[in-house]
Amino acid sequence: MTSRTSTAPARTVREHPHYVIGLLFALREDPDCVVVRWRDRALTAREVHASVVAAASGLAAHGVGPETILGILTEPNSPGTLVARYAAHLLGAGVVHVASTNAASSEAVLSVAAQVSALRETGAALLVVDAANVDRARELRARLPEPLALVCLSGPAPGFLDLTAAAGAYGFLNDLKDPTASVALITKSPGVITYTSGSTGRPKGVRRSLSTWNHMVAATVDSGSRPRMLVTTPLSHTIGPMVDAAITSGGSVVLHEEFEAGAVLEAVSTHRVTRTFLASPHIYELLDHPDFESTDLSSLRELLYGGCPASPARLEQAVRALGPVLIQTYGTTESWGISVLTPPDHLRPELLASVGRPLPGVDVVIRDPETGRDLPSATTGEVCVRSPVMMEGYCGDGDPVRSVLNDGWLRTGDLGHLDDEGCLHLVGRLGDVIKSKGEKVHPVAVENALLSHPRVAQAAVYGVRDADEVEHVHAAVVLHGAPDGRSSAEWARQTAEGARDAVVTELREHVATTLSPFHAPAVITLRERLPLTASGKPDKRLLRAEARARPSECHHMESESVQ
Ligand code: AMP
Repeated sequence: MTSRTSTAPARTVREHPHYVIGLLFALREDPDCVVVRWRDRALTAREVHASVVAAASGLAAHGVGPETILGILTEPNSPGTLVARYAAHLLGAGVVHVASTNAASSEAVLSVAAQVSALRETGAALLVVDAANVDRARELRARLPEPLALVCLSGPAPGFLDLTAAAGAYGFLNDLKDPTASVALITKSPGVITYTSGSTGRPKGVRRSLSTWNHMVAATVDSGSRPRMLVTTPLSHTIGPMVDAAITSGGSVVLHEEFEAGAVLEAVSTHRVTRTFLASPHIYELLDHPDFESTDLSSLRELLYGGCPASPARLEQAVRALGPVLIQTYGTTESWGISVLTPPDHLRPELLASVGRPLPGVDVVIRDPETGRDLPSATTGEVCVRSPVMMEGYCGDGDPVRSVLNDGWLRTGDLGHLDDEGCLHLVGRLGDVIKSKGEKVHPVAVENALLSHPRVAQAAVYGVRDADEVEHVHAAVVLHGAPDGRSSAEWARQTAEGARDAVVTELREHVATTLSPFHAPAVITLRERLPLTASGKPDKRLLRAEARARPSECHHMESESVQ
């Protein structure tokens, strides 16, 4: 049997109220087509279909149903991550991912304590793992006071429930083909619990029902194309429903466990990738990669990005290099997508400082964060949204929900305003506003000012309190390589301290003249790369902690980041 990626024309998607059944229908249309690539494996539609049905049969035989919550602990962005979720949802069970799915981040492996707490908080009765996580599963079970059944997707393991013995014993699939039966199942299902990155405090379990997840997939299914989608961000987050929609549309996915610019360039040209979703800083890394110019990226039709503020200056560069394929999305784990900046919008430089217009069905209002009153839209205030795919609430304690979700309106914690065209402009997050010498400084404004300097490739700005609790503006900056071809790191290593001081002074003056002396960072740290969180946002918590550990620094070259 030959395996191939489908290049067949688009076809009509068979609608079904349960997204997994719609996806299984799609897999049966072209069974020999490769639908999932991961590491050196290429899985056909037939193989993925068989894995989902076998796992669901086995789980059903062990009593899994709409009342059950399943923990999923698999290798980052592996096919097992998808198979476990599809099997659980087919039975109406809910899922919680108890691992970060990005190996490169500072949150790479959640601590055992955090995993135990997620399993307890969600009331998971069963943990589904792959071969790589068998030992961790035993450790988690030993630490939990409540019983936890274990299942290994890769085959039987001592002390684990045996899925294979029961496979095929259950005829649920035929029952579920009846849309009325699956609607009843969907209504009862807990759906998905996603843990937020915790960048604003303790990670919170965001609950979303299966019917909402169905809505998210349906909103993204596109019967007009068979996308070839590259995945580098955690499957447990924003990209999950997009992946389901791509497969349901007759497309395929290439799964990478993390973002690495060289690997992304290679995958796009080798697999003729048509769609991907990246964090904004990943776009800069692609643009700055030595292979960028020579790589054929002509297959790319949709480069979605978001997750943190994007630099207008760098977006202009990306549009020049890639054409009208960029689509910026703004959203939160709680609300999912809020607004979109379309490819034609990217051709209007004045719109690049915005995050575009609200998505269909999403309402955006600007409110006074203190009083909660609606503000005229051109006035800066807290962005509040109402969306058809809103979370139901957080796990555990009800108080945090009451404070962010009221009458269906979510307080995003983002500050922004709407312009005359209805485009939303974000200036920062409520808690991130820096009080510099009594003036309010929004980090995004300083980041954009730094990024408008020709030497700056990436920038992250954050407030750091000194021993007297006085807050200062700090910036971590990645420079473009030296004009003679040396990389930024080589330049920093070989260049005398005086020259580095001169660059830092120049950047500080650039911000002071572009914005105001209050905005000029007190400390500028030159780095080889910015540390990013699992979802690709600059890891400002880590940068702040590093700055606090070096209280006397004025500006500093990260010696450990220079290889
Ligand atoms: P999370 O819930 O971890 O996905 O983080 C959501 C937050 O990321 C939002 O509240 C924003 O602060 C930020 N964010 C997401 N997308 C964008 C974007 N396109 N531009 C600026 N900030 C963004």
